[in-house]
Amino acid sequence: MLTQQNSSSLVTLKQLNKEYGEFTAVNHINLDIEKGEFLTFLGSSGSGKSTTLSMIAGFETPTSGEIRLNDKSLIEVPSHKRGIGMVFQHYSLFPHMNVRDNIGFPLDIRKVPKQERDKKVDDILKLVQLTDFADRRPSMLSGGQKQRVAIARALVYEPEILLMDEPLGALDKKLREDLQDELRQIHKRLGITIIYVTHDQDEAMRLSERIAIFKEGEIIGLGSGKDLYNTPPNAFVASFLGNSNFLKVKIVSETEAQFEQQTLKLKKPATPIPDQADALVMIRPENIYVLSKEQAEQEPLASDINQISATVEETVFLGESYTCSLITSSGQRIMGKIVAREHSEIAPGSEVYVRWSTQHCCVYDNWNEQDITKAS
Ligand code: ADP
Ligand code: MG
Repeated sequence: MLTQQNSSSLVTLKQLNKEYGEFTAVNHINLDIEKGEFLTFLGSSGSGKSTTLSMIAGFETPTSGEIRLNDKSLIEVPSHKRGIGMVFQHYSLFPHMNVRDNIGFPLDIRKVPKQERDKKVDDILKLVQLTDFADRRPSMLSGGQKQRVAIARALVYEPEILLMDEPLGALDKKLREDLQDELRQIHKRLGITIIYVTHDQDEAMRLSERIAIFKEGEIIGLGSGKDLYNTPPNAFVASFLGNSNFLKVKIVSETEAQFEQQTLKLKKPATPIPDQADALVMIRPENIYVLSKEQAEQEPLASDINQISATVEETVFLGESYTCSLITSSGQRIMGKIVAREHSEIAPGSEVYVRWSTQHCCVYDNWNEQDITKAS
């Protein structure tokens, strides 16, 4: 994890800590946020995302640690002088003002001359596609439109950073997806730095260039959605982001583990795991191949492929795919996701072979069963 000040980073959190009495809400976080990036804090409820965001905004004071913007400390800078825009789940628009005046409000309190103010409001109305609604009051807008007003109001005075705390949480799925696409466009067009909070992994994947995964006040995974998904740094991240299978194994060498009566081939782990240690092998359901015994005879086993036998417990047709639950000889369950191309149904009760490529599995040591079940 990055701990040093990176030359292009806009915001740096150093050993940032927040305690409420005995309780640690944010536990010595280190993070570099790049200028212009879209970074999402993702984690379950209570993991410390909002508290971290509030400290960056200046609504909460850290117990200890440092927040730097352009390498200057923000700790003593009051919230309204930080050059940070903020959008929450609840839009808090002024009910007696129309859309145009709601959006213009931050410029009015900054005493921006009228002509300049009107131009900025017009430009931002266009950006969030609300020009035709400029004269309406909030009560005459839908939830999605209200949230677009709140976003416009946060952007109109051109803050260097936009912070968003579950801004789409109150909207239904379709609208949320439309606004996610809009937000991505706005980010691209303005080149602004966005720090976004959500507990929804799909939303985090769809929006962000990087994701910071929060657990109990700490960041336990940081990277692009693709990297975090394909090579999760630990078992918690693997089970939090997407679906995963975990096989309980014993390590026998740097690239081999014992599973049931067999030796599995492993990709070399990032940090070596001692021989004889208990470990977990993680494989994503879509990387599992299920073959009947006849098929397996026709398809020779390449050197980088693992194969174990299992019994089909159940298959469920989901349209574009099947999920197939498989039970190994020691009773461990593996879920496979099989693309429903041809007639690929496998009858429950049948004996099959399960294959996966060494490249498609990750191995973790000192796992904690609670971690995996809690995350999924
Ligand atoms: P998240 O946004 O990830 O859901 P929060 O940052 O809001 O989580 O909260 C993290 C933890 O800190 C939670 O357990 C929450 O109950 C606690 N917490 C937040 N604010 C306060 C407060 N003002 N007083 C006491 N505990 C708080
Ligand atoms: Mg929160």
